[in-house]
Amino acid sequence: MAALRIGGFTPFSTTDYPGQLAAVVFCQGCPWRCAYCHNPHLLPASGAERHTWQDVLAFLDTRRGLLDAVVFSGGEATAQAVLADAVRAVRALGFRVGLHSAGMYPQRLAALLPSLDWVGLDIKAPRAGYARIVHAPADAAAVYDSLRMIRASGIAHEVRTTWHPRLFDAADLRALAGELRAAGVDELVVQEARSIGTTTRLPDIGDADRAGLRAALRDMRRVGHRPAC
Ligand code: SF4
Repeated sequence: MAALRIGGFTPFSTTDYPGQLAAVVFCQGCPWRCAYCHNPHLLPASGAERHTWQDVLAFLDTRRGLLDAVVFSGGEATAQAVLADAVRAVRALGFRVGLHSAGMYPQRLAALLPSLDWVGLDIKAPRAGYARIVHAPADAAAVYDSLRMIRASGIAHEVRTTWHPRLFDAADLRALAGELRAAGVDELVVQEARSIGTTTRLPDIGDADRAGLRAALRDMRRVGHRPAC
């Protein structure tokens, strides 16, 4: 069996799975190239492996009863078919399992959902804006299929989007809000894009920009702000 390719590992986090003390496994590889990506070293399918899956499992074994959960993040965790085996192994250790995903592989996500406890789903843009945001061929319909499946499953989840006024204008925000509401979503976490750790310089976001954001998403609840993924 192929092992999960891991590009980073955080042994303790209070922010990656709401309400849970979690370890975070950063899976290697993502086909998209978002300008605001904070993890460019995770984008190639193969990287300079820093942690082996066996090492991570051995560490997690020592944290049973101390941590609540393990979150698979990335990169795009669902890009690796072997993720399903990794999720099963983590559940067998007694942890809850969270997933951060951009929802680009809905069939893989559907197979994983029964084994997950929480999903943070990144919606990058309204459908028409996807390729412009992710700088790669993107099937926005697949992402919205993932959103529909997550909601139909009843699993706990969070819908979030990363925003910067240079990338995402008020018309984009209104279109995004409309498409999310049509999918039954009325709560959105907004992550502000920042230049720290990215390959693209973006200017600081000002109060006027934030006021525009709140106005465009006025029908959404919990338009929170926090750093981007
Ligand atoms: S932000 Fe997420 S989806 Fe976009 S390139 Fe980075 S890892 Fe991939």
